[in-house]
Amino acid sequence: MRTVYVNGQFVPEGEAKVSVFDRGFLFADGVYEVTSVLGGKLIDFAGHAARLRRSLGELEMRMPVEEDELLDIHRELVRINEIDEGMVYLQVTRGAAADRDFAYPGEEVEPTLVLFTQSKPGLADSPAARAGIKVISIPDARWGRRDIKTVQLLYPSMGKMMAKAAGADDAWMVEDGAVTEGTSNNAYIVKDGTIVTRQLGTEILHGITRAAVLRFAREAQMKVEERAFTIEEAQAADEAFITSASTFVLPVVEIDGTAIGAGAPGPVAKRLREIYLEESRKAGI
Ligand code: PLP
Repeated sequence: MRTVYVNGQFVPEGEAKVSVFDRGFLFADGVYEVTSVLGGKLIDFAGHAARLRRSLGELEMRMPVEEDELLDIHRELVRINEIDEGMVYLQVTRGAAADRDFAYPGEEVEPTLVLFTQSKPGLADSPAARAGIKVISIPDARWGRRDIKTVQLLYPSMGKMMAKAAGADDAWMVEDGAVTEGTSNNAYIVKDGTIVTRQLGTEILHGITRAAVLRFAREAQMKVEERAFTIEEAQAADEAFITSASTFVLPVVEIDGTAIGAGAPGPVAKRLREIYLEESRKAGI
């Protein structure tokens, strides 16, 4: 049985408990982070910790523990659960107030901190990375502060179900005619050697993998444009791909039934995936 972390304690998953009055459960009043593990090491931990601090700050919540303790908890869970490749999920909610009330409770209510691991052997060498994935486009019906990584994941879940029903693997969301991002990842196209991805703003999550991949791309002298693009532009691109902590760099080979480029993973996505995995393994902690 897996060991999870709940509010200061490492406990078997079957014994872990959170109150029915927890605001994460009642109001989706919480934020989360996902950090990948490769070779038993945490990838980009500092980036995820920094984004957690920012998400909490935007919601007037405090960090439940300091960053070095957070790192210790991550490492301890990876060790106890013997994770070689996989993910560590972390959730912080505003905790459980005495009654259900929309207004935020006072400082006396402690936030809830939960962490758990998911083992994913073969994460880095996935069949999806070799074959590429198919996406469909759907309207972006999420709330306006997508830069905060909240646990409101119902629309992304609906999007994944829409993709599944259409025989695809994922969905890219479209707002005012332009692609925002994937349901749980950032979206990119490549045209004539230039990598194009949506600019940062409140419309998308500021992906930690996105930041690393764009840095590696620029270091490798690849051209990067941060701007909005349409589904039509994506369908006419040479390549498309997504990035996230759990997929790294994953080629997209079909959008709304149209093959992208040769309909197979392209050289830019393949190269970026290699660089990202190599550099991340080296920098893992
Ligand atoms: N965009 C959305 C909506 C996400 O949910 C995620 C990850 O969960 C990402 C982008 C990618 O972010 P990261 O690279 O930090 O995992």
